[in-house]
Amino acid sequence: MTQTKHEIRSILTAAGVRPLKRFGQHFLIDGNLMRKLVAAAELRPDDVVLEVGPGTGALTEELVRQAGHVVAVEIDRTLQSVCRDRLGDRPNFTLIAGDVLGSKHAIAPAVRDALRSRQRGLGGRILLVANLPYQVATPLIVDLLIGQPPIAGMYVTIQAEVADRLQASPGTKDYGPLTVLTQALADLQRIARVPPEAFWPAPEVDSAIVRVIPRTGEPLPEATRQRLFALVHGCFNHRRKTLRWSLRNLLDADDLAGLEFDDRWDLTQRPEEIDVDGWINLARMLAEKPSRPG
Ligand code: SAM
Repeated sequence: MTQTKHEIRSILTAAGVRPLKRFGQHFLIDGNLMRKLVAAAELRPDDVVLEVGPGTGALTEELVRQAGHVVAVEIDRTLQSVCRDRLGDRPNFTLIAGDVLGSKHAIAPAVRDALRSRQRGLGGRILLVANLPYQVATPLIVDLLIGQPPIAGMYVTIQAEVADRLQASPGTKDYGPLTVLTQALADLQRIARVPPEAFWPAPEVDSAIVRVIPRTGEPLPEATRQRLFALVHGCFNHRRKTLRWSLRNLLDADDLAGLEFDDRWDLTQRPEEIDVDGWINLARMLAEKPSRPG
């Protein structure tokens, strides 16, 4: 299933292009790691797989072979043509030409719609399986956890530094919005280390294959998830400030006064001192009472 460095280079040369740094074009050339990534997803014939950045289509071919349907989103025009030539005739392959993100924090509506409609047809799970371009990893993971349609699992290669942030503990420099949102909503596992030489061209940093499985037991209601998102982003934007300082901009006076007089909360804490359960409790409490506009 893997393409060698030589094969990828030939495909790009024939198309008259070189790998583009700005699109995070580091192609996975290590067959063992690619097999590990696909095997981790345990694909079923009724699964819909989202692949972000099919590139020259090596991983895509395997996904198309194993899944019910693959929705692949590619931003690079030349690579869109390469994918169409290689996979355009497969009935269970849809290529969306464009940016997977429709805005800074959310996936494009066309991608959501394609996933929904394919899932309606097949009745299985929606999974993300991808060697992610580094620029989109964080917003994509967060939006797939918070937004719709619900995703059953993500199996992705990401920069090791992003994996560290996903798994960080309170009080560390890596602990931030990505940590809180992911740990609040999902279980994480690092499946393999991916060294730079597993890619062509080699990036400057280590990567990792991770598995992110949203919890199904008692999912947080939509309003609480949205509250959590706004709270952690608003507060971690000012990491050095106290909770009281940041919440002044995020809550109305009544809600803030309620927290001041509630001894479960210590508003002199900084955001990195509050553990994941603390953030969930805060979001839950605030989401339960409607806040005033403005
Ligand atoms: N899937 C291939 C592989 O495993 O070797 C290529 C992966 S490469 C790390 C990332 C791919 O994502 C490239 O094909 C790049 O053009 C594409 N890409 C980058 N930014 C994107 C975006 N915002 N939306 C969709 N595709 C994007």
